[in-house]
Amino acid sequence: VAVLVHVRVHVRPGQAEDHRLVAHQRLIVGLHIGHGLLSGTAQAHTAPHLVNVPEFVLPLHRLDPHIRQSHTQPVVKADTLRISGIEVLMRWRHPVAGEIPPDVFINLAETQQVIVPLTHHLLALIARDAPALQKVLPAGSKLGLNISPSHLHADEFQDDLRQFAASMPANHFNVVLEITERAMIDKNKSLAIFDWLHEQGFEIAIDDFGTGHSALIYLERYKFDYLKIDRGFVQAIGTETVTSPVLDAVLTLSRRLQLMTVAEGVETPEQAEWLRKHGVNFLQGYWLSRPLPLEELIAAHDEPAKYFAAR
Ligand code: C2E
Ligand code: CA
Ligand code: CA
Repeated sequence: VAVLVHVRVHVRPGQAEDHRLVAHQRLIVGLHIGHGLLSGTAQAHTAPHLVNVPEFVLPLHRLDPHIRQSHTQPVVKADTLRISGIEVLMRWRHPVAGEIPPDVFINLAETQQVIVPLTHHLLALIARDAPALQKVLPAGSKLGLNISPSHLHADEFQDDLRQFAASMPANHFNVVLEITERAMIDKNKSLAIFDWLHEQGFEIAIDDFGTGHSALIYLERYKFDYLKIDRGFVQAIGTETVTSPVLDAVLTLSRRLQLMTVAEGVETPEQAEWLRKHGVNFLQGYWLSRPLPLEELIAAHDEPAKYFAAR
């Protein structure tokens, strides 16, 4: 069955001159249509009839790999505010639509079952950039990578990571795999994978903690190294007279279990101060630094005052 999709976007007067906005809206609509069209049809992304579908509903892996890049966001130690490592975040700059938010294209990649090749691409980019990163990040720096649940459970996962480790400079970075609670539903399988990862020298962070199925039981049952507190909790600090009892409970429990904590989405000095007082180990967020392209990370290292003006 050939399906032809036409997307027409109506733009209100006054918005018409903003071509980027129009293109972006079209793309988002296209992505949603692509989502609906392709979900559940595992082979759809190889079907030749899709050739005539507009570019923006094409599967991601057919697009020029050069438009998929990465940014790095510094993570700092809460007590000294010195950089302890970075999180790598994927970026997709579309030639017409501009920057596409990762929330949109990562979801699409998962639906189209191309998250694995997309992650391969990212791993190759990191290996390529590793010598430059090595110059600005001392030995022992953490390098956080987001791993989607379907990749974690894929057959090739272990080979992919072995290959990635071999492509990186020896004994320099501590690679931290950021995994959401969603990935832990298949308990026995996840436990075995976590053990294997630790044997290989990777560290594990539970990402967006508090937004998923969020059972505190995970904290006790799984061996992992860092708990990343979702920015929803962090952003509530200072807006309520009494801070979230859930956040308090999570921090207390983390301390008891000797888990390291990372607060995400730290945007104000008040939030940073509260988190530090409550024993959070690492901070990440716009107050410290936005995600930066590699060149800017290097420049920030050479000229921190310019890039870390907020502090
Ligand atoms: P995440 O893993 O929770 O990444 C942190 C997100 O918070 C990033 O959004 C980052 O730019 C944003 N952020 C950092 N500091 C602040 C802050 O102070 N305030 C606010 N409001 N936001 C802040 P980004 O880059 O748009 O990525 C969104 C999500 O897309 C990521 O959330 C992650 O789930 C996914 N993602 C990004 N790159 C990858 C990737 O390489 N692989 C996979 N599987 N997912 C990825
Ligand atoms: Ca993450
Ligand atoms: Ca997160």
